Amino acid sequence: MTFSALKLSVPLLQAVVEKGYAAPTPIQAEAIPAVLAGRDVWASAQTGSGKTAAFALPVLHRLAAAKRPPGRYVRALVLVPTRELAVQIGEAIRRYGRFLPEPLKTLVVYGGVSINPQMMALGGGADFIVATPGRLLDLIDHNAVSLSSVATLVLDEADRLLALGFAEELTRIMKLVPARRQTLLFSATFPPAVEALARELLRDPVRVEVIAPVEEQPDIEQRAIEVDAPRRTQLLRHLIQTHGWSRVLVFVATKYHTEHVADKLRRAGLKAEALHGELSQGARMAALADFKASKIQVLIATDVAARGLDIVSLPVVVNYDLPRSPADYTHRIGRTGRAGEHGVAVSFVSAETHAHFCLIEKRNKLTITREHVAGFEPEMIEAPVAAFAPAPAAAPATGGVKGKRKSKKDRFREAMAQSEAGETTAG
Ligand code: AMP
Repeated sequence: MTFSALKLSVPLLQAVVEKGYAAPTPIQAEAIPAVLAGRDVWASAQTGSGKTAAFALPVLHRLAAAKRPPGRYVRALVLVPTRELAVQIGEAIRRYGRFLPEPLKTLVVYGGVSINPQMMALGGGADFIVATPGRLLDLIDHNAVSLSSVATLVLDEADRLLALGFAEELTRIMKLVPARRQTLLFSATFPPAVEALARELLRDPVRVEVIAPVEEQPDIEQRAIEVDAPRRTQLLRHLIQTHGWSRVLVFVATKYHTEHVADKLRRAGLKAEALHGELSQGARMAALADFKASKIQVLIATDVAARGLDIVSLPVVVNYDLPRSPADYTHRIGRTGRAGEHGVAVSFVSAETHAHFCLIEKRNKLTITREHVAGFEPEMIEAPVAAFAPAPAAAPATGGVKGKRKSKKDRFREAMAQSEAGETTAG
């Protein structure tokens, strides 16, 4: 399959050549003809699958071929969960559209920065808007934009849009776009809420589910190191130094941890920075640019801040704090091992998080050997077993050897597994 077989216009093919793409990725091969034909698309798209071009190229093709409506128009709207993803997609769209004879106006809008320049830039409207939902609604409330002529609506990373709590904003936006439109929905995972959203929004969609053949699956070596929680920063430092990791993305649970861990690493002489959602947009972009340019060796990030980052050649991802959900685990480790490169994903597991990690493994159908690093072996933790001890029948199959009495630790782990399982399904 070649790009020219997909019947994209010459200027778009020129852009593809300029980007150096030899052939369409599987998702592009399936989605582009469907989008060109005006169909709705329901795509399960993993990070790094080439999904941006899968919608941007055919939507640009259709926009360039159609007449602009009069007045303040928005013709194609892409909704994304984060500002970084918005910026990345905006850049990609501009790049793919740069050889079109009549330039298409592409705007990126997101929160956390002053709204005025965005209102000014919108002016009479735009052909393509890439937006985070909250800021888009603010602009609508300021009468800066109307969605009444949106012909194509794209929801990118729909699972994250919902996971980040944008359900209400999406409902409001859906009421403002025309009922007759083309809708494209991309998501890495399809939990029930995303399935429901897809069913509600899509009309007779073409389903694109590209299962990567084994040899094309990302080459990510997954490791789990058991360590006591208070020693994680030291272990991280030790690993960075002994392995000589050139660039590491470290995931932590909170904004506080991003700064705390970055600070400790800096004091140990490493070039480390924090990346979290409360930094100004300028600071986030600067940290990211420095990381890309290898001026920063370790980036400590929360899930929200790191979502959608496309960092070329990222050799290592570390789960300092485990992700909340099994799906987040997949998202996080997908930051490495891209474009055919080898990647390493390391998870720190303590006695407290052991059960949660088992759950992540189980849901993702993984079995990852637990390792100990010399000098960082975890100490046995005496847990308040009596308070947690579950009924034997309900005990999951983790830990415990048949015919032997279960250790306190095993019982603690089981109890944790149960409480974690309850929490995760409820959330
Ligand atoms: P995405 O999944 O859209 O974030 O794209 C992941 C990466 O793949 C980006 O760096 C794209 O520039 C790149 N890419 C997209 N399509 C192709 C293609 N057909 N061939 C090679 N690389 C591609």
